[in-house]
Parts: sequence; structure tokens; C-alpha cells
Amino acid sequence: MVENERLRQEMRRCEAELQELRAKPAAPCTGCEHSQESAQLRDRLSQLQLEVAENKGLLSELNLEVQQKTDRLAEVELRLKDCLAEKAQEEERLSRRLRDSHETIASLRAQSPPIKYVIKTVEVESSKTKQALSESQARNQHLQEQVAMQRQVLKEMEQQLQSSHQLTAQLRAQIAMYESELERAHGQMLEEMQSLEEDKNRAIEEAFARAQVEMKAVHENLAGVRTNLLTLQPALRTLTNDYNGLKRQVRGFPLLLQEALKSVKAEIGQAIEEVNSNNQELLRKYRRELQLRKKCHNELVRLKGNIRVIARVRPVTKEDGEGPEATNAVTFDPDDDSIIHLLHKGKPVSFELDKVFSSQASQQDVFQEVQALITSCIDGFNVCIFAYGQTGAGKTYTMEGTPENPGINQRALRLLFSEVQEKASDWEYTITVSAAEIYNEVLRDLLGQEPQEKLEIRLCPDGSGQLYVPGLTEFQVQSVEDINKVFEFGHTNRTTEFTNLNEHSSRSHALLIVTVRGVDCSTGLRTTGKLNLVDLAGSERVGKSGAEGSRLREAQHINKSLSALGDVIAALRSRQGHVPFRNSKLTYLLQDSLSGDSKTLMVVQVSPVEKNTSETLYSLKFAERVRSVELGPGSRRTELGSWSSQEHLEWESACQTPQPSARAHSAPGSGTTSRPGSIRRKLQPSGKSRPLPV
Ligand code: ADP
Ligand code: MG
Repeated sequence: MVENERLRQEMRRCEAELQELRAKPAAPCTGCEHSQESAQLRDRLSQLQLEVAENKGLLSELNLEVQQKTDRLAEVELRLKDCLAEKAQEEERLSRRLRDSHETIASLRAQSPPIKYVIKTVEVESSKTKQALSESQARNQHLQEQVAMQRQVLKEMEQQLQSSHQLTAQLRAQIAMYESELERAHGQMLEEMQSLEEDKNRAIEEAFARAQVEMKAVHENLAGVRTNLLTLQPALRTLTNDYNGLKRQVRGFPLLLQEALKSVKAEIGQAIEEVNSNNQELLRKYRRELQLRKKCHNELVRLKGNIRVIARVRPVTKEDGEGPEATNAVTFDPDDDSIIHLLHKGKPVSFELDKVFSSQASQQDVFQEVQALITSCIDGFNVCIFAYGQTGAGKTYTMEGTPENPGINQRALRLLFSEVQEKASDWEYTITVSAAEIYNEVLRDLLGQEPQEKLEIRLCPDGSGQLYVPGLTEFQVQSVEDINKVFEFGHTNRTTEFTNLNEHSSRSHALLIVTVRGVDCSTGLRTTGKLNLVDLAGSERVGKSGAEGSRLREAQHINKSLSALGDVIAALRSRQGHVPFRNSKLTYLLQDSLSGDSKTLMVVQVSPVEKNTSETLYSLKFAERVRSVELGPGSRRTELGSWSSQEHLEWESACQTPQPSARAHSAPGSGTTSRPGSIRRKLQPSGKSRPLPV
């Protein structure tokens, strides 16, 4: 039936098309090439007609000119005729008079004397006549010349007339040619129109024939469809039967489906359970591995020592000058990289530290040594790295470095970023940085809006025993660009604050505090590790030059804080029960990062040149003292939280009467050797110096 309907529609469409074709008027087919050509021809025809009109105008002008010239010629001929008649009359008159005169002369000759008289008279008369004659002849001559001239003019005019005639003939020929062309174009156009008409009629006929054929085919199809329809009816009947059967089956399907779903659900549940238990097992293993890794790392660092002291010798620079003062006084042991030899006042002195870096060591070599410490920060350990040494020995170079060759600070942050990224699939980390400085025992924020503001160190009110600095700015950093911005900001703050930054920075401790906070995505476990990078104030003993006033106060503060640091490290290394963290702002601030499982590295910077051997010796002694602390029996973990009130009281009283430097004056085992006249004695008026617990 559908097929039938379709065919019927097709038939209707064909009939409509046929109707349309029949109804189509003999309108010119727009856009066909013949109509374009006929339009062109029409244009050409109108152009030619225009030209003909123009030529006709020209012709009439020429005709007018010819007419005018002919008129003038007739006039001239008339005048010429008049002149000739006048001349003939004159000639006639003159010849008549001549004849009369001759007759008179003859009659007079026939007479005697009286005749003589007559002759005379005649002669007289004859001369007059002769004159008249000659005048007449002259006039005659003139008239003849005029006639010749007129003839010449006439000839020219005739020539002009002839050429005008020729032009007219030419124009006529052209007009005839155009007219013939026009006729031809017109004929062509008519022919084209005729052929177009024929084409159109032919197309209509063809379309009609085609439509008739199609209609016939449609009729045939219709008949076929009708017969098909008759045969389809039994098939339809069987299909209906099938459909009814299927319908019955479908009614029973939900029940079947429910059963299948139930069994599949049970299977999936079992599989999930299995996966879950597998996951639990894996998680347990992972945690165990994590613990193991931490333990191993701990062990490794412990084997190296939780507190390590290394030395770095800077190369001889231009600033060292020339001459004997600038000669090198430091040598190394080729077989042992923990030994350094110094020639001081002609006497060789040797020191053993955890490691010694010669002046050839690169920033990367030094960083390699501290790398393990920095990664332990990610595992939640607190780390302190100090650069110690006299001003100009390379502390800032080691910690900050140069833009082309950055030091520990920037390399550490880069390493942290890459490590954190590696673990990003399991852990979520945030890294924040703070920068502070301690000058004259006053703590200031280098990243704050008001760097002048004094900051206080407080105990966390949560009773955890942790310390914190209210108001210390923390910046979250995610890339090297962020760190550079933070460093730049800190530097700008310091530069605007102090006119002579170099001098100021050598007398203050600069701290970069990096905090790494992590959350284990699968377990929710949280870790916090703190990395403290400290560029200490210059360790040189100012007393040598006899400082006074503010310079002396600065020196006292530096001396005190560096001694306190030495004391704290020594106490920690010897595992003493009491660690005097509170003896300086620096140690108090870093208490968390120095105690417990924390790891500390002291980089002792020394200058290699002769003129600095005194300070080099002093720095190396400090390093060795700190390092060679005997491991005592005290508790391994020393935490502020477990301090007795007695210890607090001790700190309070120490604060009220500032204790002089606790820095020892002696080399290990060499006994006390006081230095008369040195600033150190001036700084210790009581003479009761607390010896370094070495
Ligand atoms: P400090 O901070 O201890 O006062 P600096 O780090 O400012 O000393 O170093 C003093 C000078 O010596 C600087 O010009 C520095 O570039 C240079 N310097 C220090 N250590 C090195 C080194 N290992 N290699 C090259 N130059 C160094
Ligand atoms: Mg410096």
C-alpha cells in the first residue's frame, strides 16, 4: 500500500510537471546563450542606427555647402557675363569711333589748305582718341585679368564641388554597407529566435513524451504492486501470528531478566569484595613500605649523623689582593675528604670534619651532600642548614649563590618541587616559604608589609609545645618563578630598610623557612616538615679593631647568638638532657627544627688566604668542637614540651641578666687559653665563661 501510495504521488507529480511545461509561455529563456547573442545583436543594431543618423546629418551639411557653392558660382558666372557684354559694347563703341575718325581723316585729306587745318585738327583729335583707346585697352587688359582670375576661382570651386561629390558618394556607400549589415544582423536575430522557438517546442515535446513513458511505467508498477499486495496478505497473516507469539514471550521476559540481574549482581559484589580486600592488602603493604623507607632514610641520616659539620673553602678572589697576604694557606688531604690543613703563622694545623669541600667544589657538589636532608623534609622531618664563617668567606654564596649559579636555597626548593610532583599521584603537598632576619636579637619579617615590626616567638596555645611566630608572613609557592618573586620581594624589603645592605647582612642572621605540608590521598595521613636555611652573621671577632657603641652592641649580639648555637648543637650532639635553646632568639626560634628527629647541617665557610688564617683557624675550631661532641648517655629526644619549670626559671634569669658569650676559647683537649686584650675578654667581664659542653 505504501508503494502504491508512493507511485500515485509520483504520477501526480509527473502530471503537474507536464501541466507546468504546457502552461509555460513562450517567454524568452533568460540566461540562455541565444538570448544573450540576440541582446548583443540588438545593441549592435541600435549602435548602427545611431551611426546612420549621424552620417545622414553629415550628408545634409555637405549638401548645404555644395548648394551654397553652386549659388556663388552662378553669381560669379553672371558677373562674368556682364563684364564680357560691357567689354564688347566698349569695343564696339571704340571701333565705331575709330572708323568714324578714319573716315573723317580721309575726307579731310581730300581737301587742300583748309584741309591742312582740318588734318591738324584731326591729328589733334586723333591723339585724343589714341589716348582714349589706350585707356580702353588698359581697362580691357584689366578686365581680361579679372576674367582669368574669376576663371581660376571657378576652377577651384569646381574641384571642391567634385571632392564634395566624392565624399558624398563614399558616405552613401558606407550608409549602404551599414544598412546591409543591419539587415543581416536583423535576419540573424530572427533566425536565432526561430531556432530557439524550435528548441523550446522540441524540449516540451520530449518532456511530454518522457512523462508519458514514466506514467506508463508508473501504471505498470501500480499494477505490480497491486498483485504484490495480494500475495503479501497471507504473509502478513503469518507475521501477525509470529508477533502474537513474541508478545507472549516478552510478557515473561522481566521475570527472566530479574533472575539474570540477581545472579550478575551477586557476581559483581563478590568481585568488588575481592578487589577491595586486594586493595586493603596493597594499602597495608604500601604503608609498611612507606614506614620502611622512612626508617631506612632515618637510618641513613643517622649513620651520617643527625648533626653534621662540613667545611667549604672559597677560592682566592681578586678582593683578596696580591702579595704575601693573599697567598693560599689551606691544603687538603688527597686520600681523605674530611681532612683540612691550615698553615697558621708558619705552624701547620689539621682538622677533621664530616666532609671538606675544596675551593674547586661546585654549588652542585655541595648540594649533593645536603640533598638527602632536603628530601627528608617531604617525609615530615625538620631540617636546619646553617652557613657559618667570617664575613667574605662565602656564606651567602653557598646559601643564595648567584643568578647563574644558584646556591642551596634555590636548588632545595627546585628539588622539593620535583619530588612533590613525583609523588603527586598519592600525596597532596603544599609548600610555603617565610623569610626573616634576626638583628641585635630582634626578629623581623622580611616578607611582611612592615619589616620594621618586631616579631615575637610564642608557644602554641594548643599545648603541643610547638612554637610559632604570630604575624610572620607565609607565601605559598608552586614554581621556581614564585620563589624568585619571593626572594626578590625579601631582597627589596631589606634594601629599602638598610642603606648599607652588605654591612647589615653580615651582622644579621637571614632565615629562609620552607614548610612542606603533605596529605596522603588514600589514608588521609598528614605530615609537616620544615626546612630552615640560615645565612648566619659574620663570625669575625670585632674586638680586634676595638669597636665601640652600636658596633660593639652588634658584636655582642652576634657573639652571643653564635655561641648559643654552638652550645645547642653541642648539647644535642652529646644528647644532653638540657639543651639551652632559649639562650638566643635564633636557637629559640629553631628549637623545633633542632630537636627530636630533626637533622642539622653546619657548613663552615673559610677563606683560604694568609691574612684570614686567624679567623679561619677560629672557624675550624668552632666546627671541630661542635662536631667532636662525645655522644653522652642522655636521652635521644629532647623536647621543649618536657622541660622542667626549673629550666624555664633558668632561662628567665638568663634573660634578665644577659649572659655573655658561652663560646669556648679552647681547642678540643687543648685546655683554656685566654687571649689577653681580645674583645672576647671585654665581653666577659665576670670572667665566668660557661664552657662549651665539649
Ligand atoms: P659572606 O656571605 O660569607 O660574607 P660571600 O658569599 O658574600 O661571603 O662571598 C664573598 C665573595 O666571594 C663573593 O664575591 C662571592 O661571590 C665569592 N665567593 C665565595 N665563595 C665562592 C665560591 N665557592 N666560588 C666562587 N666565588 C665565591
Ligand atoms: Mg653574606
